[in-house]
Amino acid sequence: MSDTTAATPTTAASNPLLDFSDLPRFGDIKPEHVTPALDVLLAAAKSAVDRASAPDTPATWQDVVETVERESEKLSRAWGIVGHLNAVADTPELRAAHAENLPRVTEFSASVGQNLALYEKYKAIAAGDEFAGLSPERKKILENALRDFRLSGAELPEDRKPRFAQLQEEQAALSKAFSDHVLDSTNAYSYVVTQQSDLAGLPDDVIEAAREAAQKEGKEGWKFTLHFPSYFPVLQYAEHRPMREAMYRAYVTRASELGETYGHGKAEWDNTQNIVQHLKLRQEEARTLGYQNFAEVSLAPKMAESPAQVIAFLEDLAKRARPYAENDWMELRAFAATELGMPELQPWDVAYAAEKLRQKRYSFSENEVKQYFPQEAVLKGLFKVTETLFNVSIRRDEAAVWNPDVRFFRVENKDGSLVAQFYLDLYAREGKRGGAWMDDARARHKRTQGDVQTPVAYLTCNFSAPVGGKPACFTHDEVITLFHEFGHGLHHMLTRVDELGVSGINGVEWDAVELPSQFMENFCWEWDVLTDMSAHVETGQPLPRELFDKMLAAKNFQSGLGTLRQIVFSMFDMVLHTSYDPANGTQNVNDLAREINEKFHVIPQAPFSRWPNTFSHIFAGGYAAGYYSYKWAEVLSADAYAAFEEAAKAANGSVLNAETGTRYRREILEVGGSRPAMDSFKAFRGREPSIDALLRHNGMSEHTQTVH
Ligand SMILES: [Zn+2]
Repeated sequence: MSDTTAATPTTAASNPLLDFSDLPRFGDIKPEHVTPALDVLLAAAKSAVDRASAPDTPATWQDVVETVERESEKLSRAWGIVGHLNAVADTPELRAAHAENLPRVTEFSASVGQNLALYEKYKAIAAGDEFAGLSPERKKILENALRDFRLSGAELPEDRKPRFAQLQEEQAALSKAFSDHVLDSTNAYSYVVTQQSDLAGLPDDVIEAAREAAQKEGKEGWKFTLHFPSYFPVLQYAEHRPMREAMYRAYVTRASELGETYGHGKAEWDNTQNIVQHLKLRQEEARTLGYQNFAEVSLAPKMAESPAQVIAFLEDLAKRARPYAENDWMELRAFAATELGMPELQPWDVAYAAEKLRQKRYSFSENEVKQYFPQEAVLKGLFKVTETLFNVSIRRDEAAVWNPDVRFFRVENKDGSLVAQFYLDLYAREGKRGGAWMDDARARHKRTQGDVQTPVAYLTCNFSAPVGGKPACFTHDEVITLFHEFGHGLHHMLTRVDELGVSGINGVEWDAVELPSQFMENFCWEWDVLTDMSAHVETGQPLPRELFDKMLAAKNFQSGLGTLRQIVFSMFDMVLHTSYDPANGTQNVNDLAREINEKFHVIPQAPFSRWPNTFSHIFAGGYAAGYYSYKWAEVLSADAYAAFEEAAKAANGSVLNAETGTRYRREILEVGGSRPAMDSFKAFRGREPSIDALLRHNGMSEHTQTVH
């Protein structure tokens, strides 16, 4: 009920996007607030930059860095809300408002990055008397800023800057279009089952969800979609082969020229040209900055030293995984031929046959396990791990949300003082982008007036919503995903750094960012953790030990194939951004993907697969020449977790070792980006990372070797 006397909503009272007094006012925020808020915030941010870079402004931390930071933080908080809503509660109006303002925001960041006068001020601070007396955090921020200025083209001659800025804008627009096309083509397809017999093999909750989806549209039967919680169970469980085939074909041809053929396409959703255009722009950007290729640009701020080092790392891992993958594939084909009567495994049979083999060998299904992980038990378990290791408490809190299913929590010290807060948005729904992620609503920093702004996180997943009056139950994979995202959240929320630029995940090298997230996944494989966080949805019984032992035995089931799959994605990404020539146009990117698959994988790819066309990580998610970082960080996270295993062994106790947890919190989580990830790792582990733990955790432990 705001006072709407003002003609244009440009004040905090009339425009919730301009209210920074506390949490975002979801519920009050409307698409029509976006443009007026951005008018105000962009103008303020621009004038702060002008002030900071003016000739008579002294080159000091306070007059330059702090002045710019204060206004840019508001801009990024408000724009973060718009981006968040665009991802979780998409409407045509909001999408239009987002698209309308995106170029302005990108243009502003590009202009700051290329502002030579501002760059000179930063250089002057770094060279001046004040520098020696600055805290290590502030020094790190300045170093990062100088590097980023260079990467943003600040040292380019004036006449090349407009083109450079244009490159950034065009890339941002291409990314936005890329992910819109993925979402649109995902939404456009459905597979409606009208014969009950065609549902054979599918889990009850998946059938029920499909039933409700059809009912919602006033249709008879069961509606299945390409959203993952609907799509993947079909591939895994559906006996009806034509259904698996149709949905598989549709899934792997989304946003491609084949979309129309498979019933969900519009020519304008084809991302093929988007990819080529993207690569051309990135290559031009790299050459303009004096690099050979875009991978070098991408690696400049990362932990890995060169594209060659990354490629060598991937090739080494591929070599170690290959014998295991060949064995996995041979076993699967033999099983399918003899026991399933499928002498020829088609791509839409692989997940199905694998699930059947898993069931036979370990006699349990993922769906059986799922019944032991109702939402409340899982959250309780997750919070207990966090509370035990990191000496905090988590409890429900109140805030405005964007959907009634979203919940809000606070993290407190044992004395009740506030550490951080987070939103938890668990379920897949229409208008919500797929996948799972953590994003920051605001980051920790000490304000000029001396008080501390506590961090707030968005934790977003796409799990199945409760159906048929039963609580939502998660697959074990979903539980792992939740722990993963929560690990990112902890990195963001438990930081003790007072400086915005390096607090939490800010300023952390990209290829080390997955350390805290992948680290948390390990707890989903610990018996004493699992008994505590499982309660059968009907009986309330915890996960039986026998079932857990089977899960554990099955943990590395086909891990060779899984590793090679990740290597194909990583290698495709690296090749695309090092040696592939988009200007030449002789090789289609999908042919390149197939070629790389042939070289590194043991399962041939479907000739019609167009998976690069939905590879949002590298075309819409900031992972360009960075997808390898999942495996890279896995070396770090597995080795960090091994410290907990060693502590448990030494004390003959649990991995929930509070002493090791305290050290981990202090050396890894609290320091955020305030020092190089390698330094943090060594401070925690007392040595450089070793690949041993990763190979051991993946059941590939015959060979050992030290990396870095
Ligand atoms: Zn992650």
